[in-house]
Amino acid sequence: MISLRLIAAETARVLTGVVLIVSGLLKAIDPVGSALKIGEYLAPILDERWAWSGMISLTLSFVLCAGEFLLGAFLLMGIYRKLSARLSVAFFAGMTFISLYSLFADPVSDCGCFGDAIHLTHFETLLKNIVLLPLSYLVLRDARSLRHLFSRRERWLVAVLAVVGIVVFMVQNYRHLPLVDFRPYRVGTDLRAEMAREDSTLQAGLLATTRYIYERGGQEQAFTPEAIPDSSWRFVKVQEDATLAKYKAKYDFTPMDSLGNPFAEELLADPGVTLLLLAPHWNRASEGSIDEISELYTQSLSMGYRFYGLTASSAQEIADWRYLTGASYPMLLMDATPIRTMIRAYPGLVVLRGGKIIDKRSFTDFPTVEEVSRYLHHLREPNYIAPAPSLACTYLLLAWGALLILGFLRFWARKLHLTLYLKKRIHYPYKRKRSMRKNIVAGNWKMNKTLQEGTAFISELKSALSVKTLHCDVIIGAPFIHLATVASLAEGSPIGIAAENCADKAEGAYTGEVSAAMVASTGARYVILGHSERRAYYGEDNAILTEKVRLALANGLTPIFCIGEVKEEREAGKHFQVVEEQLAGTVFSLSPEDFSKVILAYEPVWAIGTGLTASSAQAQEIHAHIRQLIVKKYGETIADDCTILYGGSCNASNAEELFAQPDVDGGLIGGASLSVEKFLPIIEAFH
Ligand code: PEP
Repeated sequence: MISLRLIAAETARVLTGVVLIVSGLLKAIDPVGSALKIGEYLAPILDERWAWSGMISLTLSFVLCAGEFLLGAFLLMGIYRKLSARLSVAFFAGMTFISLYSLFADPVSDCGCFGDAIHLTHFETLLKNIVLLPLSYLVLRDARSLRHLFSRRERWLVAVLAVVGIVVFMVQNYRHLPLVDFRPYRVGTDLRAEMAREDSTLQAGLLATTRYIYERGGQEQAFTPEAIPDSSWRFVKVQEDATLAKYKAKYDFTPMDSLGNPFAEELLADPGVTLLLLAPHWNRASEGSIDEISELYTQSLSMGYRFYGLTASSAQEIADWRYLTGASYPMLLMDATPIRTMIRAYPGLVVLRGGKIIDKRSFTDFPTVEEVSRYLHHLREPNYIAPAPSLACTYLLLAWGALLILGFLRFWARKLHLTLYLKKRIHYPYKRKRSMRKNIVAGNWKMNKTLQEGTAFISELKSALSVKTLHCDVIIGAPFIHLATVASLAEGSPIGIAAENCADKAEGAYTGEVSAAMVASTGARYVILGHSERRAYYGEDNAILTEKVRLALANGLTPIFCIGEVKEEREAGKHFQVVEEQLAGTVFSLSPEDFSKVILAYEPVWAIGTGLTASSAQAQEIHAHIRQLIVKKYGETIADDCTILYGGSCNASNAEELFAQPDVDGGLIGGASLSVEKFLPIIEAFH
């Protein structure tokens, strides 16, 4: 059953993931804008005049936008869950601190969390972060239990695609202009009409809120501008709305000519075409398109267009630019901030016709010398408005979306057991009844762990499993001396406890031995028998093992019976024969009823603790062979229902592939069962 805690973690993951993706993407659309915002935050420590300060802000902008997007995407797809959850907690903690600082110190007018697309007040930003910080903690608390759309083997590919995707997207937006322009000066804006509207709104606001305070006979009274009193009243003061006093025009287009005269009306009232070449400071403008600019200027004049440079540069900077590029176009002056708002390129071109913005281009997209004439002729067409920027980035986003959808489809296909069904159709000749055959992940601690370490492990595993939907049984094989303690600790959890051995005698004068009855009395329900280490170091042969299996069954224990060949036998191609002999000499002597209680574990001895693993194909081949042997001995039903585990350097990175084989029903895990961190992902390989 899915617990409430897991539902909370999943919901929190979706909420934080979506917010991170949206805020990352909205900022990544305009990396220069984000760099400017970062520059505003860093203004107290980063002087704008330093040549490299812009570079620092831009680098931070790339890191922040990409980082935010990637965190969100990784959380939503469930890849690198723990790391992503940790980083998002750190991120929201940092953001909460910055928004608190902004609320009190007011270093910037707008936080810039969602670029220019959504504007939040400092208080709203703080509120957003105060909600998201605990949500990200909920994600972190159960990060390992979150569903994932891609397997461990696939996730690096998805991660690489995500990183490449967002970086290419940002570089595109940086080199050209932002894919979507959220600022006031977008192409198609009738600047003249908008400025007039803004002006009249402000005037109307002033008219509606301004009060004239007059006094008569010691009494003060407020009058509207339309109802000024007669001369019997004495004027005291003008009372204006404080919010209007702080009003900042959205369209702060205030160019001046070289003598300092306002030039906006002159530009906007002209019904013809005007080209403005903008750069806040000419000494920082790219010189990469000087030929194109010269051609644009020369041909503009010959076509009767007007052409101006628009800058906040000093006279010296303008003179240097003229000297360097041969520029002879007239220069208009304006504050750097509205120039940056108008265009994110250095330099950029803004084309006006009749006060309307009909095109905007970064210097990287200026028409080439050969294209200039055709381009300028287009501008003359009465309804010409430049087309939206290239859709290359949009395709990239679409490809991304498709990847996500693919992940979701795979997830649901798995949920509906479609993949199992297909696998069965393709590889598997038998009709599998999954209900009878259990998937099991069993650990084998061998001679490791003190009692304290053992109990700590069980407590940790128990709490990790309590928030999971399990798709397999979980067993831990522990030393005799731990059994009673860990079995009582594991009670009420999905963890079953196994002994690692039992005596081949029922009871009596066998000093140091532990009988199956004693094991059963501790609360353990399983016993590992026939392990290659017992066979090799303690001389346990088929006769001894048969006796142990018989006693285990008689005492209600389920044997996990190990078989497998040594390296030389594998190399001599005798592995099929070896397992056949091991089975024939031991568990095949059991009645069908008893045999059906046994769990088999195929463990190639050359793979145990060596780091060598049988490939999934090798494992499937021999597991299928073992099942065939059981079919021959006990018939199809018992063979179908028999759980056959694989053991031998099984770990988080190979478990999923091994367990996906139709005849591999789980694993017997040695080394990787010694820490919950390594063991849990193996259990999760069944999802
Ligand atoms: C084992 O001892 O059963 C075993 C499979 O060990 P490891 O996983 O360390 O290879």
